[in-house]
Amino acid sequence: LVEASYNRIKEVDDQVHAFLTLDEENARAKAKELDQDPDNNTKLFGIPSGIKDNIVTKALRTTCGSQFLRNFDDPLYNATVVEKLRAEKTVTIGKLNMDEFAMGSSNENSSFTPTRNPWNTDYVPGGSSGGSAASVAAGEVLFALGSDTGGSIRQPAAFCGVVGLKPTYGLVSRFGLVAFASSLDQIGPLTRTVEDNARVLEVIAGHDSMDSTSANVDIPEYTKALTGDVKDLKIAVPKEYLAEGVNPEVKEAVMNALKVYESLGATWEEVSLPHSKYAVATYYLLASSEASANLARFDGVRYGVRTENADNMIDMFKKSRSEGFGEEVKRRIMLGTFALSSGYYDAYYKKAQKVRTLIKNDFDKIFEDYDVVIGPTTPTPAFKVGEKIDDPLTMYANDILTIPVNLAGVPGISVPCGLSDDGLPIGLQIIGKHFDESTVYRTAHAFE
Ligand code: GLN
Repeated sequence: LVEASYNRIKEVDDQVHAFLTLDEENARAKAKELDQDPDNNTKLFGIPSGIKDNIVTKALRTTCGSQFLRNFDDPLYNATVVEKLRAEKTVTIGKLNMDEFAMGSSNENSSFTPTRNPWNTDYVPGGSSGGSAASVAAGEVLFALGSDTGGSIRQPAAFCGVVGLKPTYGLVSRFGLVAFASSLDQIGPLTRTVEDNARVLEVIAGHDSMDSTSANVDIPEYTKALTGDVKDLKIAVPKEYLAEGVNPEVKEAVMNALKVYESLGATWEEVSLPHSKYAVATYYLLASSEASANLARFDGVRYGVRTENADNMIDMFKKSRSEGFGEEVKRRIMLGTFALSSGYYDAYYKKAQKVRTLIKNDFDKIFEDYDVVIGPTTPTPAFKVGEKIDDPLTMYANDILTIPVNLAGVPGISVPCGLSDDGLPIGLQIIGKHFDESTVYRTAHAFE
């Protein structure tokens, strides 16, 4: 399997550009060792996987897609998720491309090279976990880990026709995930099938004392939830998710999916998420504020690249940051620093926190009467490389259907639900109650 993985990478990755770093020597050695290993009943024995490059891997370069970390070759520890995968004997094939510090929706913000959509390389794979989604879609690995702050697992999964889950906030440890917006970030699996996804989540979920936001909940066997039975399932379809701005082909694919659910004995009704129209504005205030604080640690001293020509210490901080960070990252740091500055805090950050609560309350209310919320993952299928890169606001609007889920902290999955006339995948988004990944998976699996 490991050999097949590298062969496939050699065949296609010069067009797809999913990988930033390969760990060939170690992976081959690991595979040889596993060939002799009698204890081969582990959950992911010998399975080749890719890891998004903002998840720290011991002694394996971790760049976050940034020039700032282009020489960060020797992290001292593994993220908890990586330790958990290793314990089940997966093999890490390499590290996957991403928008710099997970800021972006197209992978064009990678400071190395943009990943392309394997279905048609004129199109973006989505972002920020574009490398993760593309690597699975192109058959380079059997699963990948991504991270999702405002849609970065689900949106690229939708664009690349794979399955991507953002777990409930707190279900998967963030220890070793380079923080973008700590109150929103979650790691999750990208896979070909719902069953694979459930299997990987079983391995990576669970309490971790190294992450103070990690929830202490029992982890069920998610694969056992895949019964195919959705009789009597109550589905809510927010009218905001099929409103103007959502492409007709996407709407049609979602309506067809709802018909499939009806034929399986489920029922659906239209509901409203009245505050979702504020979600994008709320998210960009909160996420940028948290990012401005989190990225303060990149000073040219502790990690990564230091400027060559500084006169004094302050100058060294400034120049290292000016040279190390890309344009989008700087935009967010400035926006966040402004929103948190004294005199503006109440007007922007605090207000955004209040709206976040209203958005969460909208979901809580719906979940009093329904099991899942269903809609599209994105308003359109994948767009062309270059189409939106000069217009950040249009780029931000692409996340309008995924962001509310992060703000509310609930789980959401994207599963393929059809192809556009141009032959590009469309994603169906299924959103569940806090810690009810089992129902999300059951619903997704029944449709698959
Ligand atoms: N596209 C969104 C952003 O640019 C979401 C990114 C993410 O989920 N990491 O912030």
